[in-house]
Amino acid sequence: MENLLRAAIRPDVQALLPYAVPVADGMIKLDAMENPYPLSEDLRQPLAHILSSLPLHRYPSPQGTELKIRLARLMGLPEGTPMVLGNGSDELIQMLIQAVATPDAVILGVLPSFVMFHFIAQVSRVKFVGVPLKDDFSLDRSAMLAAIAQHRPALIFLAYPNNPTGNCFDEEVITEIIVRASPGLVVLDEAYYPFTPHSFKNNLPSYDNLLLMRTLSKLGLAGVRLGWLCGHPALLEEIDKVRLPYNVSVLDQVVAAWVLDHRDELDKQIATLVSERTVLADGLGRLPGVTVFPSQANFLLFRVPGASGIFDGLRRHGILIKNLTESHPLLQDCLRVTVGTPQENRLFLDALESLIHTP
Ligand SMILES: *Cc1c(COP(=O)(O)O)cnc(C)c1O
Repeated sequence: MENLLRAAIRPDVQALLPYAVPVADGMIKLDAMENPYPLSEDLRQPLAHILSSLPLHRYPSPQGTELKIRLARLMGLPEGTPMVLGNGSDELIQMLIQAVATPDAVILGVLPSFVMFHFIAQVSRVKFVGVPLKDDFSLDRSAMLAAIAQHRPALIFLAYPNNPTGNCFDEEVITEIIVRASPGLVVLDEAYYPFTPHSFKNNLPSYDNLLLMRTLSKLGLAGVRLGWLCGHPALLEEIDKVRLPYNVSVLDQVVAAWVLDHRDELDKQIATLVSERTVLADGLGRLPGVTVFPSQANFLLFRVPGASGIFDGLRRHGILIKNLTESHPLLQDCLRVTVGTPQENRLFLDALESLIHTP
């Protein structure tokens, strides 16, 4: 087997570590920004009926036209707004990178940010330049402008709000990057749009090089893999050429469209999560030694001395969050917790408090 691997598999792929998804069986799962609420029985029953009559022997709608109507409505954009659909926004990131990948193309992002920007660039053998954020996790304007001028990136990824820091970057600096600095495309990843009033949605018509990426994952349908990209139709047309046909299954398309037609329930859950974010932030802020960072998303980043020990202790209490302390120098002693149900948040805060007092 060793010889076979050597003969066949790229050495840089062999050197990769697998994307580790920790085992969470039976745990309170606050590590992955999922909506903690399942669909209600009232919705599941009629949905099951619809799914039972789907033509599973046929390929899905290649363009997802019915779904795009719902997505435009969800965004408050006109019906017929052009979009590219992806099997999650992860697949859109992959398509974008494939569409710009020449031997000397550069992709630029910030650090720390969503790991998929860097990871997919690396696997696609496209150079990735990561510009560190400032200590307060804001954009380092002069470092960004200098890096853009030096590397002339074909593509810039910015998550807005950013993961794992939770903040939205300065609107004026982003606009300056889009309008004056960037020679190529600027993709704003608005995965956390349900939890913030901030969006560049209304700026889409103004800037030819701006693309907006969204997903249903954080809204409450992480298991339905669906992301979408909006922007100038001429750009979307090119990016759509690298999309594999039928990339979004008929099950995903129908479930997503149907749930979006019955969105009240999700909207209520989101409102609860936004107010629970404040409860959780206040609770964290009251604990000795804990610094909690402002968040526009459905998670909170916080710093606590001895973060790794605390993370392990929480796991022993049956609570899974995310340990970021090794992931970037700016995130030393930082942990990230997803906003859960009021009861989950309470259990998390109680466990954390007991660990801080008796580690
Ligand atoms: C969670 C997240 C996504 C979601 O990706 P999907 O593939 O749509 O599940 C995208 N971008 C960011 C910044 C995220 O944090």
